Amino acid sequence: MAVDLLAFGPHPDDVELGAGGTLAKMARRGLQVGIVDLTRGEMGSNGTPEERVREAEEAARILGCAWRRNLGLPDRGLRADPEQVRAAVTVIREACPQVVLLPYWQDRHPDHGAACRLLEEALHSAGLRRYETGQAPWRPAKTLYYFINDATEPSFLVDITEVRAQKIESVFAYRSQFGSSGTETRLNRAYGLPHLVEQRDAYFGARAGVACAEGFLAKDPPLRQHLLEW
Ligand SMILES: [Zn+2]
Repeated sequence: MAVDLLAFGPHPDDVELGAGGTLAKMARRGLQVGIVDLTRGEMGSNGTPEERVREAEEAARILGCAWRRNLGLPDRGLRADPEQVRAAVTVIREACPQVVLLPYWQDRHPDHGAACRLLEEALHSAGLRRYETGQAPWRPAKTLYYFINDATEPSFLVDITEVRAQKIESVFAYRSQFGSSGTETRLNRAYGLPHLVEQRDAYFGARAGVACAEGFLAKDPPLRQHLLEW
């Protein structure tokens, strides 16, 4: 169950959009990568919860993740309430990650910001000896934030050029969301969210002189040990 890197998504597909390339690259480098989806996305306009869980499993396999879990919290009902925080604390203490990835706290979808606040509460409580779940306390070394819909100036970029095809394949594994059938949404319309994400990855990549990159935020500035190693 223990992983190096644990990525949390409010809905199945959010992690792929914001950090799928980075997860695939780290898995290729031999890191153990886990994904936790908070909800089944049951309020989405297209797809059933069962379809989305199957699609999520396929996407995790494409990215090379060790495992993926769904906490089954209510879609459109994410809150930093004690019960939901406890569910997230339990999985953090089981997975003992070195690094966690959370959705950026500002996003047009209110669930994404709510997920961030809930998970920040959980990360704090997970490190407290007196917060009882019958498990040892755990505090990851680093918390990083990835972008879903909205983005800002990132703290750093990860070059995902070598795994670009894997990222796209993992996103389009969500046929119920990004396929052309069903109700038209921001996700499946022409030039919808996958287009935005591809353009953003290309823009961040161009800023660093590579084909594509994912941007991340850290609340503390990343510490460097050497000025000649970039
Ligand atoms: Zn979402």
